[in-house]
Amino acid sequence: MTKLSQLPLPSDRVLALRITPAAERAIRHGHPWLYENSILSVSGDGRSGDIAVIFDRKNRFLAVGLYDVESHLRVRLLHMGTPAKIDAHWFEQQVKTALAIRAHLPAQNSTGYRLVHGENDGFGGLVIDRYAETAVFKLYSLAWLPHLPAIWSALCLQLPLQSAILRCSRNISNFLADQFSLQDGDILWGAEFFDKTAVNGRIQFLENGLIFEANVIKGQKTGFFLDQRENRARVEKLADNKSVLNMFSHSGGFSLYALRGGALKVTSVDTSQPALDLAERNISLNQFDTNRHQAVAADAFEFLNEQKNSGQLYDVVIIDPPSFAKRHEEIERALAAYGRLARLGIQCLKNGGVLVISSCSSRISAADFFTKVLEAAEACQRPLTEIERTFHAIDHPITFKESAYLKCLFARIG
Ligand code: SAH
Repeated sequence: MTKLSQLPLPSDRVLALRITPAAERAIRHGHPWLYENSILSVSGDGRSGDIAVIFDRKNRFLAVGLYDVESHLRVRLLHMGTPAKIDAHWFEQQVKTALAIRAHLPAQNSTGYRLVHGENDGFGGLVIDRYAETAVFKLYSLAWLPHLPAIWSALCLQLPLQSAILRCSRNISNFLADQFSLQDGDILWGAEFFDKTAVNGRIQFLENGLIFEANVIKGQKTGFFLDQRENRARVEKLADNKSVLNMFSHSGGFSLYALRGGALKVTSVDTSQPALDLAERNISLNQFDTNRHQAVAADAFEFLNEQKNSGQLYDVVIIDPPSFAKRHEEIERALAAYGRLARLGIQCLKNGGVLVISSCSSRISAADFFTKVLEAAEACQRPLTEIERTFHAIDHPITFKESAYLKCLFARIG
């Protein structure tokens, strides 16, 4: 049954807001959020998804955004500077701009990539990922619900999409259920196509010509860690004739690139058996020799310790852990964990081997992260020669500092 009828319709209501001088300054500096406690007055009772027009001290237009009654982050800005009418046409233009940045990716044999990266593409609180002919809308704010049909239509004008899935962040899932009887993983468009194409919720797509499956209904994020595409391609170039250890492997992203790059042996380690099963399935889908791959269900810290103690050394060690610092209070502990992982990874590397270590914690700065890794190398007296520091890929653009999260170091031992 289609869930579409449960989406609220866009309203004609336009709210006028007055805000504090500090918030006005922040907006003028390009900050895309307006918090509840920065609002001095609102012209009426708004509902999530209403258009909110923000005026400055002199009563001039400042910005326009989407109102969200359920969140302290009350307005996600869409547009600043000159007045703009936010309607289907406007969304169409925004979608066009976002897709233009990614237009080269399908030609590089990637049909899985990010179409819209939230605030950084002018869609605060909304992520849209493409998996071949399926789009996944990941909502961090209910304000997007009434506007999804306009965005879907705009996407379909440009891409051969057939179905769309709704995913949501944990903090809005109760509201979605209570107010709209919608839930994470609902199919919004093309249910018939999706049911015919997906195997148990898993959709096949290409990344740089490799075939992957991702569970877009239940998988972490929207099903796949699309943000590591370019780092994976870098690993492929380092892998020829090498032994590769892929820690926190999930569904085998880095492992498949290493296999295609000619690795002699790849070991994928993750605590999640379903993720490892999917990694093995992905390896079979690409017809790689399964004897070159080993999947190990284990805790990363324990596994690395065991390898170190048994003197097992690798040519390439990849460490791509989940975010360790979801809250400010966790920063110190997270840095210590990165340090520990870096040290263990280095101790499992042959001389001349390459460490690839990344962090996706936005609360940990790139500078602190890189310093921590380099200190770990010094502490075990195996200095690193940096090959490259990498950041966000083109389909995960960054336009304000709070949204930068991904950093990765490629470095050689000795
Ligand atoms: N490198 C992956 C993405 C990693 S996401 C890719 O390219 O797709 C983080 C992964 O770490 C998840 O699959 C999660 O199951 C796993 N994980 C979390 N804690 C872990 C631990 N302590 N030891 C091993 N794996 C862990």
